[in-house]
Amino acid sequence: MDNSEIIIFDLLVVGLVEFFRPDTQDQIPKYPYPDLLRRACNTLALKMSAIPYPSTLEGLLTLLEKPLQTWYPLVIPQEFDSEYGLIYDRALSEEASQYFYEQLLKRAQLPEFASVKVQQIALENFQFLRLLDKLQQAYEKDAERAQTEYVLLRRFLIEHHYTTLEQLRNKFSKTSYISIDDVGGLYEDCKENDACWCCDRCGPLIEKHGHLRGIKPSVCNDHRKNLSHVRRISWKRGLCRLKFGIHWRVCLPGIPEIRLFDALTQLHKQQPEYLCEVQLWPGIDRYDLQLRFGDGSVWAVDIKDYRNPYDLALQLKPIFGEGDLHYDESFYVIPNYRLHQRQDYIEILREEATELPKSTHLFSDIAFEERVIDKIMLLSKRK
Ligand SMILES: [Zn+2]
Repeated sequence: MDNSEIIIFDLLVVGLVEFFRPDTQDQIPKYPYPDLLRRACNTLALKMSAIPYPSTLEGLLTLLEKPLQTWYPLVIPQEFDSEYGLIYDRALSEEASQYFYEQLLKRAQLPEFASVKVQQIALENFQFLRLLDKLQQAYEKDAERAQTEYVLLRRFLIEHHYTTLEQLRNKFSKTSYISIDDVGGLYEDCKENDACWCCDRCGPLIEKHGHLRGIKPSVCNDHRKNLSHVRRISWKRGLCRLKFGIHWRVCLPGIPEIRLFDALTQLHKQQPEYLCEVQLWPGIDRYDLQLRFGDGSVWAVDIKDYRNPYDLALQLKPIFGEGDLHYDESFYVIPNYRLHQRQDYIEILREEATELPKSTHLFSDIAFEERVIDKIMLLSKRK
């Protein structure tokens, strides 16, 4: 694969991240383009032959909305689904955000000329990783407390899309490894005139031309203001909202994890003899859930919410199971709505996830819950 062509693609994505930086949410950005975007576009202009390169900004934005496979003249990385465009509704598309946050930032592969503004986004993103690192180190000596604080922090970020300093003080004044400032650094101030909206299913919303849009339309895309899961947050002094990268990387993937954890905790409360314990993020997030049953068996679960099963298949590896994390059965669990979006989702995963042992089960969250209920029934009959 031609690496210099991948670099052009990365420049283009990073340039667009800067161009559509969330703090400019309500204004269409104007000339001049960020430097990176200009460089990527210059190369595109030279390589495009079948379709002429647009002569206006409007034309360029329209082109960038089109599926890449219909016009893009250079190599597209396999992690980017070319059935989608780079922008959508005049903002960075879900596919491009995913590529930026899951590929470029995760592997610290920012093009070296990334601007201060983009470096800033990367830094925000590393704030959480630094905290995670600190807690993982503390876990070596003080496992129980480090684990409790990790769960407190992670759950707070998933459930508090907006917060205030007062709330942070209440929650984090007694923690040993996490300070109020650490958590506050993962939020940004809401301005007094900002319209603050929130969806219970996907977090803070952006208002554009009177319409609300979520961070990831494939997860949740109906945000009419009269729906019960869409709420207006009234502004008060000190109100702040999750930073975009934390929302994308930490909060959003956590929503189905908490949903399944809460459902299993209900089962545990009803049948503590058979489902003895449900632990969230054991070993500071080595996997998502650990279930202990009355017969001594242990199940390990990781929940993954990807639109495209081919993208997910690249991520699936054997679940770590050393020491306290030992398990007898392992499961990758997919939110059920993904299977509605694509009926052959699980079959594709099974076929494409070549690094996954055959013994690891692949289930929807609903099917997994049923499997747990079956196991409880089996144990109760044996008695
Ligand atoms: Zn939503």
